[in-house]
Amino acid sequence: MSSNVLIERKNQVWIKSESINELTCDKQSVAGSVSQRACVFCGSRVVLYPVADALHIVHGPIGCASFTWDIRGSLSSGPELHRVSFSTDLREKDVIYGGERKLESALSELIPKYQPNAVFVYATCITGIIGDDIKAVCKKITNIFNIPVIPVHSEGFKGTKKDGYKAACSALAQLVGTGDITAIPKLSINILGEFNLAGEAWMIEEYYKKMGIEVVSILTGDGRVEKIKKSHGASLNVVQCSGSLSYLAEMMKEKYGIPFIRVSYFGIEDMSQSLYDVADFFADYPEVRLKAEEVVKTEINLILPEIQKYRSALSGKKAAVYVGGAFKAFSLIKALKLIGMSVVVAGSQTGNQKDYEQLKMLCDPGCVILDDSNPLELSEYVIQKKADLFIGGVKERPIAFKLGIGFCDHNHERKIALAGYEGMINFFKEVYSSVLSPVWNFMPCRNGELKEIV
Ligand code: SF4
Repeated sequence: MSSNVLIERKNQVWIKSESINELTCDKQSVAGSVSQRACVFCGSRVVLYPVADALHIVHGPIGCASFTWDIRGSLSSGPELHRVSFSTDLREKDVIYGGERKLESALSELIPKYQPNAVFVYATCITGIIGDDIKAVCKKITNIFNIPVIPVHSEGFKGTKKDGYKAACSALAQLVGTGDITAIPKLSINILGEFNLAGEAWMIEEYYKKMGIEVVSILTGDGRVEKIKKSHGASLNVVQCSGSLSYLAEMMKEKYGIPFIRVSYFGIEDMSQSLYDVADFFADYPEVRLKAEEVVKTEINLILPEIQKYRSALSGKKAAVYVGGAFKAFSLIKALKLIGMSVVVAGSQTGNQKDYEQLKMLCDPGCVILDDSNPLELSEYVIQKKADLFIGGVKERPIAFKLGIGFCDHNHERKIALAGYEGMINFFKEVYSSVLSPVWNFMPCRNGELKEIV
């Protein structure tokens, strides 16, 4: 165990073939540990942000809105209202006298001006503390303008980022079930937990289309209010990034009887499995399975020669992976194995017990598994395990660069599509250019001197 692990956190670190403790997870971050996690509000914001024809207004001080402005690289094929960040900009006077009137007046000005199809009103820490009745304001504005104005109960302090996902799912659940589903065919699905970063949702939708499956709604990538409203008409929910939208999938199963499956679109193996799993769900239509096999065969044949090239160059290299949801880590481990790389550090912000059990099975002996980690722990284990590459998000990037190793952005800010078959090649290309860049030879902190900078 590293000397940089706080006593309160020692059970959230687990080393394969060495640790005798159980891995603890699903708990609030230890104060002072400088967790890599974001707040509850941020959790809600990342899930709802890609709904492009909705107006998103943050009821709180301006910092909450600017901190999450344009937070995902989610593309839209039409409106781009989601890219504008609105805030009530609460100040001292509002904290003392309440901010409800300010919210009401902001909504009354913005709705006629931008004509959104729905509005999401995000609660923040301060509105939770002063006790503004956001629900009452939303109800009043809904009645005036006759569009859904939905409160998102995402007060930043009230839990972990995961609670933000739940709040976002509850907000979406208010739209689901309110649209007309008469024209939706039996061979239909919703894609949940796909956020259309760099156009990935369009690629995935295309694969399903080739199998003869209609995608009713993608939640929330390239999201549209009308499509979300009728998503209860689909036969199956296909849930990616299980941490963020699984609550909605469970709600839809309970209320509308729609079953769901968990998939991942990262890596050849998982991408193919996600097509086969959907085909197998529609087993009464054997032609769907045949078409899925055709898609997989064609796509793999296109990328196999490229993969071989990357395998020869990268075999034996080591990676550290730290992501939001643990499900993504599974796919990354499998994908890296395909090019001969091993994962020596793996962790997530929001994994649960079941996720970590699967992660333990996938990892090689000696791999360090970290739940809700922090910069100090991550740095220490990256050095100890001599990783050549760090795969993570915006908060992990400076750690990698300070340590003088390659970095690959696999989070929501990225601009390169990494999902699907085409995305796999983009990913390997990124890994290749990052790991083998000659720039690392000029880093004084490499070659045994890494420890000095931690
Ligand atoms: S909601 Fe609270 S924790 Fe989150 S950004 Fe705003 S003030 Fe910070």
